[in-house]
Amino acid sequence: MGKILSGAQVAAAINQDTAARAADLRSRGVCPTLAILRVGDRPDDISYEKGAASLCAKLGVAVKRLPLPAAVSQAALLAQLRQAEQDPGIHGLLPLRPLPKPLDDQALAAALSPRLDVDGVTSASLMGVFANTQAGYAPCTAQAVLEILDHFGYQLAGKRVTVIGRSLVVGKPLAMMLLNRNATVTICHSRSVDLAAQARSSEILVAAAGQAALVDEDFVNPGQTVIDVGINFTPQGKLVGDVAFERVEPLVAALTPNPGGVGAVTASVLVRHVVEAAAKTLA
Ligand code: NAD
Repeated sequence: MGKILSGAQVAAAINQDTAARAADLRSRGVCPTLAILRVGDRPDDISYEKGAASLCAKLGVAVKRLPLPAAVSQAALLAQLRQAEQDPGIHGLLPLRPLPKPLDDQALAAALSPRLDVDGVTSASLMGVFANTQAGYAPCTAQAVLEILDHFGYQLAGKRVTVIGRSLVVGKPLAMMLLNRNATVTICHSRSVDLAAQARSSEILVAAAGQAALVDEDFVNPGQTVIDVGINFTPQGKLVGDVAFERVEPLVAALTPNPGGVGAVTASVLVRHVVEAAAKTLA
C-alpha cells in the first residue's frame, strides 16, 4: 500500500505559520486583505471563493468580494480591476478564472498589477518562475505540489519527474519550478506518444490533465510517488482526480489522496501569499 501524502497535514503547517505572521502584521497596523474578483455565478467559482474566504477568516486575513454579473463588459471588468488596484488596503487580488466568454482572461492578466498578483497569473510573475528570480508569486496550485513534496522530505535534485499537463495555470509553471529545483523534468500532454510508458519511467509523477482515472496501473511503478492535481466530477457529482486511486494505491510507494491532497493545500498557499504581499508594504 502506498503511503498517503495528506494535503491536510501540509495545509495545517502552512496555516499555523500564516496565522502567526498575519497576527504580527495586524499588531503593526496592517490588516492583510485579499480581494476576490468573480464574474458570474459558476458553482465551482462560488465554492472556491467560499473556501478561500473561510480560510482567510480563520487565519486573520480580510476578504473583499468583488462580484460582477456574467454579462459585464470587458471595459467594466477592467474598470473594477483598476479601482481595486488603487485601494491601498488591498494586498492581493484573485481573479477567478476562466472568465465567462467572451471576456478575455489574458487581457485581465495583462491589466493586473504584479504587486497584487498572488496567484501568479501575470507575465511578470510567470517570468519570475521561468527565470527563477523569485520575483512575484508562483501559481498557487503549482506551488502546492512543491509544498507537499517538501513537507514529506523529497529531495528533488536529479529526480526523474513527469508532469502530465502543460497549461499556464499548472503544468508549465510546475515543470519550471521542478527544473529550478534541479529535477529532470518531462512534460507530457494530450499529443504525447506512449504516455503510460513515459509516466511509468519516472520517480515522481504529477497528473494535471483534468481527465478522470487517466493514471491507472499502466502508468506507475513500485517506488514511485504520484501527485494528483486533477479535479473532475462524476455524473453523480462526486469529485475525483486524474488518478484511479484504488487501482494505483497498492502499486506505488506514495500518493496524494483526492480530495484531501493538492486541493487542500492550494488555498493555504494563496492566503500565505496575501500575507507576504501585505508584509511588503512595511518593508
Ligand atoms: P487545462 O485543461 O488547461 O490543461 C490540461 C492539460 O492536460 C493540457 O495541457 C492537456 O494537453 C493535458 N491533457 C489533457 N488530456 C490529456 C490526456 N488524455 N493525456 C495527456 N495530457 C492530457 O487544465 P488545468 O487548468 O491545467 O488544470 C488541470 C487539472 O487540474 C484540472 O482537472 C483542474 O480542475 C485541476 N486543478 C486543480 C487545482 C487544485 O487546487 N487542486 C487548481 C487548478 C486546477
